[in-house]
Amino acid sequence: MKKIITLASIVSLSLSATNQAVTVVLDFNDPTQATTERTNVFYDTMNTFNITQYGFTDTAANRLTITSSILEAVKADYIFDLGAATGNAALNGKRLNLDFVIGDAGLSPSNGDSEYYVIQIGVGEGGNGVAAFSSIRQADGSIGAYHGSSVGRDLNTGELVVYNDGDSVPNGAIVGSVYSNNLANILSSRDMGRLDRTTNVLAGVISHEVGHALSLDHLEFSQPTSTPNNRTAIMHTGASGLPNFERKYDREFSTSGVDENGNTVNNLQLLQNALGVVDIAPVPEPSSGLLLLSGIGMLTLSRRR
Ligand SMILES: [Zn+2]
Repeated sequence: MKKIITLASIVSLSLSATNQAVTVVLDFNDPTQATTERTNVFYDTMNTFNITQYGFTDTAANRLTITSSILEAVKADYIFDLGAATGNAALNGKRLNLDFVIGDAGLSPSNGDSEYYVIQIGVGEGGNGVAAFSSIRQADGSIGAYHGSSVGRDLNTGELVVYNDGDSVPNGAIVGSVYSNNLANILSSRDMGRLDRTTNVLAGVISHEVGHALSLDHLEFSQPTSTPNNRTAIMHTGASGLPNFERKYDREFSTSGVDENGNTVNNLQLLQNALGVVDIAPVPEPSSGLLLLSGIGMLTLSRRR
């Protein structure tokens, strides 16, 4: 019996995730959510994420496909081998220390992380443009607001708060709103029902808002910008020249660009400063995991005999 327990604990150890510094919960608003979680965030009312605006039939299966695809795309924007992307051998096998899950505002994230913040995605009823944001990390990695006058909502008190630089943002706070109705207008009729275009438009803006929350400023589209795979930079914005059609394509964080204050910045380096890096956890080979599990089964069987 003792041997079984030892084997079982090895299995659970090898499958448990590394403790994350920060988890960002993507909350695709749905009709079952309490109205209090959906209203008056960022001076706007957030309503149900409506996939028919992207040309999809409103079914649970389509909703799952689309939200899962967006989650994977946002993860791909943030979680990758930094050494391979930047050519810096010191970062081989390292990635940014954060995680993303789908969840609901007001609930703890499914990965069990204790520090988490919420980005909500849905139909905005106000005139707020495509998104609004608050911030959770300063550029040096300390916890707290970076941009002056960021707004968010304290889920404990229900109050709308304005955060000044260095203010601490409560755990679980909604730190970003992405207005899916306004983003759908960027797509043309030919894009309707296309999972890739829908994913890129929404994931790009979600990653952009999370970037702000992690202290990044906008980049000037007219200035030279470098990215690992020559894609358009995530921190470009329509206000500084990003054409809307660029939002239909996969974007990535830049290694060099000029921000709205005229400073040359490396967004991937700033994200490392804000979050820190961790080793990319070795993913157990399915075959060896199965072998371990079948080993336990055999032990159990042999004891029954
Ligand atoms: Zn922005």
